[in-house]
Amino acid sequence: MTALHRGDIRTARRVVVKVGSSSISGENAERIGPIVVALAAAHGRGTEVVLVSSGAIATGMPFLLLDERPSDLATQQAAAAVGQNVLIYRYQEALRPFRIVAGQVLLTAGDLENPMHRSNARRAMERLLGLRILPIVNENDTVATHEIRFGDNDRLAALVGQLIGADALILLSDIDCLYTRPPDEPGAVPIDEVAYGDDMHGFEFGSVVVNSVGTGGAATKVSAARLAAASGIGVLVTSADLVAAALEGDEVGTWFRPNPLPSAAPATGPIRTAVDTLGG
Ligand code: GLU
Repeated sequence: MTALHRGDIRTARRVVVKVGSSSISGENAERIGPIVVALAAAHGRGTEVVLVSSGAIATGMPFLLLDERPSDLATQQAAAAVGQNVLIYRYQEALRPFRIVAGQVLLTAGDLENPMHRSNARRAMERLLGLRILPIVNENDTVATHEIRFGDNDRLAALVGQLIGADALILLSDIDCLYTRPPDEPGAVPIDEVAYGDDMHGFEFGSVVVNSVGTGGAATKVSAARLAAASGIGVLVTSADLVAAALEGDEVGTWFRPNPLPSAAPATGPIRTAVDTLGG
């Protein structure tokens, strides 16, 4: 098997796209439309597309009359419960003109570790994809809180990619690519590509960001990208504005080259980072 290149995303069989809360909630809710156009184009080319979307908490906030993200876990979970169905409704409305049906899949990292749950989830996802339905995955926030606390679904997206044997994972955010240090700092240089096994020594990705709508940031993306790349999935980190170009295989974002021999990947070791450890 030859390792996937960025340009091969266009013809990849199976692609997971992850979109974060800030890209699709609040005043950015209207950006669901263009993102769905890009997903529908890839679906129309025959690619099996899985969307991992957060944004349930942020979408639910106005329905609970909250101006800002709640700080306590119970209210975050309540907001997620309210926001999740609104979010799925918005995606389905945007998909309707393309005659694509969405399937909601709520998972926890624990589900993907439990052999029985994992095999059930994989079977369901395979059937959904076989039926040409577009699965939309989020963390099951009423029973799990890893992604609320650390990473806005970045890690979940990598685990879903592993579950279904995806060829590529596209992690979308508000920034066009990763930089050698926080992009607002002087001397920050864009990172075009990361070789498999590169420990990225000397780069600064900051800590986990918690803002008014979600959690995440470059550190959780790097952690998730390395986790997926270790299992042979090519990973592109770019902005939600560039999702169409990313799915076309254009030279955008930061490309993490996949492990060319994924079965030889260590189960633990270099792919675990401080972010993973925090979640443990
Ligand atoms: N699953 C959560 C959501 O959809 C995670 C995002 C967050 O941390 O706000 O809202």
